[in-house]
Formats: sequence, C-alpha cells, structure tokens
Amino acid sequence: MTPKSPNILLLGAPGVGKGTQAKLIEAELNYARLDTGSLIRSAIAQKTELGLKAEAYVKEGMLVPDELIIGFVLAELLRLKETGKPFLLDGFPRNLAQAEALNRMLEEQSLSLDWVLEIEVDTGKLTDRIIGRRLCSDKACGTVYHLKYSPPKQEGVCDRCGSLLFQRDDDKSDVVSKRLDSYKHETMPLIDYYLKQAKLQKIDGDQSPQEVFAEIRDKLSSL
Ligand code: AMP
Repeated sequence: MTPKSPNILLLGAPGVGKGTQAKLIEAELNYARLDTGSLIRSAIAQKTELGLKAEAYVKEGMLVPDELIIGFVLAELLRLKETGKPFLLDGFPRNLAQAEALNRMLEEQSLSLDWVLEIEVDTGKLTDRIIGRRLCSDKACGTVYHLKYSPPKQEGVCDRCGSLLFQRDDDKSDVVSKRLDSYKHETMPLIDYYLKQAKLQKIDGDQSPQEVFAEIRDKLSSL
C-alpha cells in the first residue's frame, strides 16, 4: 500500500510564486486545493455577502477580518475532505488567530496538517515580481505571466487559451507595499509558530517555477 500524501500549507510573501506552485501541486500531485484569495475575488465579482464585505479590505491590501473568513474556510475544508484527496492550503491561515482556528477545525474533522512549505525569495525582488504579474482572464485557465520573467508570446494575450491578460487591482504599486507589510507583521509569525511544531520546510523560490516545483515534489516524497 502506498503511504498517503501529506496535507500541506504553502506559506510565502505575495509574489513568491505560491499560486503557480499550488496549481502545479493540484494538477500534478492530485491535491485538493483551497485558495482563499481566489475564492474571495470570485465572491467580490459575484457580489455575495462575503464579497461585499471583503471588497474594501482587498482593495486596500489588508487582510479580510477573521470573523468573515473563518466560517467560510470551514465550509471549504469540508468540501476538501469529501474529495478524499490530500489537501493543500494556499492563503489560509494568514495570522495566528486563523492558525488556531484551523487547528480547532482540523481536530473536529479528525484531519491533520502535516507539513508547512515556506517558499523563500529575496524580499528586494518581491515588489518587482508582483507589479509585473499578469493573469489570464479565463478562470479555468488562470495562467500566470510576468512582463519581464515569463512574458506571453503576444502582448496581453494568453499563450495557452488566447484570452486577454489582466493585472489584479491589488498588484498595482500603491497596494503592493501594504500587502507586503501585512505579510511581514501578520503572517510571518506563522513561520516561527510552525517551526516550533517541527512542521516547517523551506523551499528556495529563487529558481524557475519548474525547479521550485521539482524541489517541492522531491521534498514531499522524502518526508
Ligand atoms: P492572495 O490572492 O492570497 O494574495 O489574497 C488576496 C487578498 O485576499 C489578500 O490581500 C486579502 O485581502 C484577502 N485574503 C486572502 N486570504 C485571506 C485570509 N486568509 N485572511 C484574510 N484575508 C485574506
């Protein structure tokens, strides 16, 4: 019998390439993914109750208040559990209160978080990585480009599906510094938190996306 793949959380500052890696892990390693940022953006686009309340925070580069996000994540976690696949958390938890809430939810569901992978990139490079980012507007495709590091063949058009590319509002320069600040003050304490629980594994994010993924895959199979 093959051992079950570990349940994991991806940590890393905005711009380290978490989203790209999360999609690769989901597709190539058959994980069930929870990406709170994308779910919140869809909620905003669909003007749901959560979306209407969350919009101003996202625009400002601030975290959406815990009381809005925690109940929402619980429902999503149940959905992940039903798939029977190992799960991958991308974007939650983002602070200590959310990490504690996650522990309680997992315990109630007889689930566990096995490993936390922290993707590290030289912080001086993050602003440039975020501001140059462009996304495919077709959600099902969602390919991520960078104007300098991985540009599309034709400007503004997705190589894979031909849809138009766009820049996320919160990837614009005035909001980026707030998001990086929020990561430093609210999310970085989680690194120490999971280090103390002996769950933290560091991944070198200063490599090509394929190389980062190879490091993640090798690490997961050796754990
Ligand atoms: P992301 O796509 O992960 O960079 O998330 C985009 C934005 O969604 C963040 O800047 C926050 O405003 C909001 N967001 C995503 N996940 C969370 C979370 N776990 N807690 C609070 N806000 C979140």
